[in-house]
Amino acid sequence: MSLPPFLLPLLLVVASFLAMEAVAALSHRYIMHGWGWGWHRSHHEPRPAGRRGAAAWFEKNDLYAAVFSLVAMALFVAGSLLWPPLWWIALGVTAYGVFYFLFHDALVHRRLDLGWVPRRGYLKRLVQAHRLHHAVEGREGCVSFGFLYAPPVERLRAELRAKGTLAERS
Ligand SMILES: [Zn+2]
Ligand SMILES: [Zn+2]
Repeated sequence: MSLPPFLLPLLLVVASFLAMEAVAALSHRYIMHGWGWGWHRSHHEPRPAGRRGAAAWFEKNDLYAAVFSLVAMALFVAGSLLWPPLWWIALGVTAYGVFYFLFHDALVHRRLDLGWVPRRGYLKRLVQAHRLHHAVEGREGCVSFGFLYAPPVERLRAELRAKGTLAERS
């Protein structure tokens, strides 16, 4: 019995999509909230007033999305020229980027109006967990660095209380 030809590509796409959650959560925790805070800070602070058009929409933190897209593009090129499996991995990375934009930028931060807010279940928990990520002022003592998985919201609240970092407004 031979395996269907689409099975390996499909597995590569799914596996790289899931692996990207680890890449995103770890780089969010150790790079963006570490030495890369210079770019990420813009995402944790109110936008500067008085900007218009594209300048008002973009934040410095978007440079990270640009860097990740360049990596995905390089993988597509390497996949086409050198080693075909890389092309499918690039597709999984890109799919994660699309999910990240729709979940993080559109659903949580409303940079794009989807006209819908999840009221229950998994997505609601993800949204609440990311709100708690933003409930801390500054880069220290934050919780929930992932985007595809979030611990239960009550556990995150308890963690924040234990750390004593929950900002007043939440
Ligand atoms: Zn952050
Ligand atoms: Zn955010």
